[in-house]
Amino acid sequence: MSVLIFIDHAEGQIKKASLEAISYGVKIAQQNGTTAEGIVLGNVTEDLAALGKYGVQKIHHAADAALDHLDAQQYTAAIAQLAQSINADVIVFSNNTTGKAIAPRLSAKLKAGLVSGAVALPDTANGFTVKKNVFSGKAFANISITTAVKIIALSPNAYKIEETGGSAEVVAYAPTLSASKVKLVSTTKASGEIPLAEAEIVVSGGRGLKGPENWGIVEDLAKALHAGLACSRPVADAHWRPHNEHVGQTGGAIAPNLYIAIGISGAIQHLAGVNRSKVIVVINKDAEAPFFKAADYGIVGDAFEVVPKLTAAINKL
Ligand code: FAD
Repeated sequence: MSVLIFIDHAEGQIKKASLEAISYGVKIAQQNGTTAEGIVLGNVTEDLAALGKYGVQKIHHAADAALDHLDAQQYTAAIAQLAQSINADVIVFSNNTTGKAIAPRLSAKLKAGLVSGAVALPDTANGFTVKKNVFSGKAFANISITTAVKIIALSPNAYKIEETGGSAEVVAYAPTLSASKVKLVSTTKASGEIPLAEAEIVVSGGRGLKGPENWGIVEDLAKALHAGLACSRPVADAHWRPHNEHVGQTGGAIAPNLYIAIGISGAIQHLAGVNRSKVIVVINKDAEAPFFKAADYGIVGDAFEVVPKLTAAINKL
């Protein structure tokens, strides 16, 4: 068995979710007495050899400007060629936006079984069985992959980053690519200083904030905590906040270490996107709000009084 890990980056910076994928892939390799190799597509600003400290032994780097931005067809072709040439039988992705775009295509191309949203290491003693979240996080399923090549897309924040190694060997990789069918017209920076998917802490606002003009208190708290910004769906639908901040069943699914929900009722569709957060803090003026049932800590109070006081207290630390 050999393991290939797709290492994703944003504007040249390796994503935290990819470090989790590396640690996960390395552990699979160690448990099966084999090697873990990585693939990086496009130009990066980071020292790739230093990723060896997470245990990956070799990194294949296609430093091609054509691969700087996600192009699902090109990425799939590049990863498939490498996987076949090194006979990878387990391929690991993060189940982030990039992973979701590529892993299913690669699965079809290589005729490889795929489990997306994995939350634990595969059980290789019982075939090759992978545990994943189903029904918006309400249950788990254990799925056996029976194909020769197996693909796993790991849920962000489901596996701890571990430093287990030294330096990785970095080798240049030049995949054969056909002309791209995609033309990048422009890119828009998502709102918030910290990308939501990467944020360890997320501060999120709901309809209880009454209108976009009141978002300053949410942003101030997020700034004090170096947190990402999120919101409930009605907030994004009403254009109070951009849609990239919308979390829930129909929005992004996040799993930060700390999720602070302000003026959000805690509807099941909202919880579906945030219930994997390690700690949930709810601020709501209605003590009967359903979100309190899912909260680790709750503050019953008016957000317009509580949040500025909280921010001021944090800024004093
Ligand atoms: P509300 O339900 O209006 O709640 C506002 C809360 O603010 C209340 O609990 C209130 O007590 C509190 N409040 C009011 N004033 C204050 C104050 N001054 N201080 C403190 N608290 C205050 N929703 C999502 O979020 N994400 C999804 O992905 C999503 N997908 C959906 C998919 C489907 C198919 C459907 C049917 C619905 C979906 N929804 C989703 C909508 C969801 O059902 C809820 O309607 C929505 O989450 C409610 O948003 P909210 O909590 O911001 O607003």
